[in-house]
Amino acid sequence: MEVTGNLFYANCSTTEIKANEWYIDSGCSNHMTGNLELLADVRTNVAGRVQMPTGALVSVAGIGSLSIDTAKGRKYIREVMYLPGLKENLLSVGQMDEHGYCLVFGEGMCRVFDSPSMDYLITKVEMKSNRCYPVSFLAEKQLLMKTSFLQSPWIWHKRLGHLNFGGLKQLRDKEMVHGLPQLEEQSGVCEGCQFGKQHRNVFPKDQAQRASKVLELVHVDLCGPMRNESVARNIYFMLIIDDFTRMIWVYFLRNKSEAFYCFKKFKSMTELQTGHKVQCIRSDRGGEFLSTDFLEFCEANGIQRQLTMAYTPQQNGVVERKNRIVIEMAKSMLHEKVMPYFLWTEAAHTAVYLLNRCPTKALNNITPFEAYSGRKPGIAHLKVFGSLCYIHVPTELRHKLEPKSTKGVFVGYATCEKGYRVFDPVSNKLLLSRDVTFDEENAWRWTDKNESVMTT
Ligand SMILES: [Zn+2]
Repeated sequence: MEVTGNLFYANCSTTEIKANEWYIDSGCSNHMTGNLELLADVRTNVAGRVQMPTGALVSVAGIGSLSIDTAKGRKYIREVMYLPGLKENLLSVGQMDEHGYCLVFGEGMCRVFDSPSMDYLITKVEMKSNRCYPVSFLAEKQLLMKTSFLQSPWIWHKRLGHLNFGGLKQLRDKEMVHGLPQLEEQSGVCEGCQFGKQHRNVFPKDQAQRASKVLELVHVDLCGPMRNESVARNIYFMLIIDDFTRMIWVYFLRNKSEAFYCFKKFKSMTELQTGHKVQCIRSDRGGEFLSTDFLEFCEANGIQRQLTMAYTPQQNGVVERKNRIVIEMAKSMLHEKVMPYFLWTEAAHTAVYLLNRCPTKALNNITPFEAYSGRKPGIAHLKVFGSLCYIHVPTELRHKLEPKSTKGVFVGYATCEKGYRVFDPVSNKLLLSRDVTFDEENAWRWTDKNESVMTT
């Protein structure tokens, strides 16, 4: 096979060239790379030479394909020349056109569509200050690494909010959940974990008598104010724990005075779900729990109050311990994907969701979710908090030239089964969707709000 090409490029930027960065270039006749590792299915039985800018002729050592991950699945850019010694990776505009891609330049951006009908946007590439269009793709080798990551115990450690490997093993060995695959033994240090865990005083073990049925005793505590307002402008969170099942609920508040309203919501919901009545509340003497309204409501409903002593949080041990765990988990998850702190409510909400599906020392090989609902939780749908994701946009909401998916950040689970919460950093909005594709290895670059370069 004879191939001949030429290369009249003026890209030569002085900045460092990244191994998997490709330049979209109109000055070369063919796609070219000097890095064999980026290519798959390389054929070496090729003859041909490429004329370099200096006039020198360089032999083509092979031709292969570049595989890229898109929201629509894996795609291949074919017939990429391997030229040993070439320092840059180049995508030829002419060859892209010939192979049916459509490139639109304008507004400092190059948009690459998969066909001339511009139905599906593969990527948008921002022009850099040197007037180049660098784009990063995953190479085949990295895709292989990605596959092994998706099967490793580490991803389950992260999906379950940095659950320790002992807990993972317990979930699997005692068959406490549905959807957890067989995992290899694993040890090592996780950065997210190290960050989340802080040194604190250890609470003495709770000696108090345990409740013998659901809602017989609930622990309540209010935490905050937090330093960062959430998207919905909340600064407090309230945890409620059922003593018998260790099921946790979380509510977010703007003012402490909303605690009473949240408790009433909790009471009607759980009493309807379980057929039992809340009998006793244990809390500290925070003013929000001692309001006349709250006290009168409890009296009228026959709810007993247990108030712990001031300055002795260990008397309120169950909920204080859980507070600490929720905060640590939330911090680990935010740190793992380098996320801004205004998303703390999403992280805390996710932590509670996960804790209800994780082992707890207070129960014997059963999750709080199962103790409360009588059903084993399924966890096959869990994803790493903060992952990049793509929401499919229904056709009726989409303009002809717009992409079929919106890029966002996965920030938790919807209250309804199997729905996902996605934050769109561009519009600053939270979206709910069941139709989401995840890229769990990657994260939004929060420092660059208008991120447009494909980071997969
Ligand atoms: Zn971890």
